Amino acid sequence: MSVRVVILGAGFGGLELATSLSEELGDDIDVTLIDRNDAFVFGYSKLDVMFGRTTPAAIRLPYRDIAKPGVRFLQQTVTAIDPEARRVTTDGGVHEADFLVVALGADYDLDATPGLAEGGNEFYSVAGAERLREVLPTFTSGRAIVGVCGAPFKCPPAPSECALLLHDDLVARGVRGDCEISFVIPFPTPVPPSPDTSKALVAAFAERDIAFVAGRRVSSLDPARCVAVLDDGGEMPYDLFLGVPKHRAPDVVIASGMTEDGYVPVNPQTLETRFPGVYAVGDVSTVGVPKAGVFAEGAARVIAASLIAAVRGGEQQEVYDGRGSCYIEFGGGRVGRVDVDFFSGPTPTGTFHEPSSALVTDKQYFGSSRRVRWFGR
Ligand SMILES: Cc1cc2nc3c(=O)[nH]c(=O)nc-3n(C[C@H](O)[C@H](O)[C@H](O)COP(=O)(O)OP(=O)(O)OC[C@H]3O[C@@H](n4cnc5c(N)ncnc54)[C@H](O)[C@@H]3O)c2cc1C
Repeated sequence: MSVRVVILGAGFGGLELATSLSEELGDDIDVTLIDRNDAFVFGYSKLDVMFGRTTPAAIRLPYRDIAKPGVRFLQQTVTAIDPEARRVTTDGGVHEADFLVVALGADYDLDATPGLAEGGNEFYSVAGAERLREVLPTFTSGRAIVGVCGAPFKCPPAPSECALLLHDDLVARGVRGDCEISFVIPFPTPVPPSPDTSKALVAAFAERDIAFVAGRRVSSLDPARCVAVLDDGGEMPYDLFLGVPKHRAPDVVIASGMTEDGYVPVNPQTLETRFPGVYAVGDVSTVGVPKAGVFAEGAARVIAASLIAAVRGGEQQEVYDGRGSCYIEFGGGRVGRVDVDFFSGPTPTGTFHEPSSALVTDKQYFGSSRRVRWFGR
């Protein structure tokens, strides 16, 4: 009988793991990939949708297109995980695993920020981005805040990108002079591991008259007064609030008893949890890297190497290196890149690549290469 691998979540981590296993082992492994959705969407596509650069339909990559030897996709919702028994319950049945991989990402906790659901607009979900597509054209004057409500949050550069793209949107609509933009982030700099990237972003904010409020998070909104309250008690009035909600592991993961301090702790080199045969990868885990798709993908490849070694009876040599490259929209049709290395030195480092139109093409290739690799289209 083939080794049974059950992967929970078909995001960056789950898709890369299933693909790597199929590529190497084909029908010699029995992979079940489970996700509650019918399609995958790249995180950055949400910015494209909200600013009207693409349509919601165009960004969906349907899971029904996955055709890989040894891999079966099931559209089901995970309702319980028993990590001791490596048994998973979904709305479609029970799945037993020899190896279980939790790749369920991070959920948004809007209720953790009072007033956000009523008075703000989150742009981190597809639904939120779709709503904003209708809301943004109605904003023609007043104060806009791009505000982060808690860390850790996915893709640390994304709120900076949102502020810069909002500037472009207002300029294109001829209303920038009637609007103010402020950007609130709990970090001391926009991208802490890379001072050069942070410097370039702070300069870009200054050039565009975007007020940068560092080291603060938005702790609540008062929709009646249209005021955002910061964690030091300071207040900022707004007419449009674009928020990054607090994140947390999905409830089903918390209920499984696998989490500590909100997320699943793993061995940072192997991605193993404390439960034998159970791994966690990507945003759901605490591995010491930011919550971003590139890191989930890199970690998934290490798990794949480990499972391939287990099936073939060899030794797992590969350890997770905590490296990844993130593209950053600077507006004006230019994209920058930061190559981050979290584990090889005493502190994380990041190498900045100046924004250019050539990097726009690189970013497009980043998306299209994954689309071909994971979905064959
Ligand atoms: C605006 C924005 C821009 C971003 N830009 C970038 C970028 O440029 N580069 C980058 O690398 N990253 C970017 N990210 C971050 C990136 O999208 C995430 O970090 C990445 O998707 C994490 O991968 P993952 O596999 O851990 O989880 P996800 O990709 O979130 O996958 C988790 C999957 O689990 C499924 N799931 C959850 N609960 C259940 C359940 N109970 N039952 C069944 N299925 C379930 C979900 O449907 C989902 O498909 C961005 C994110 C946002 C919001």
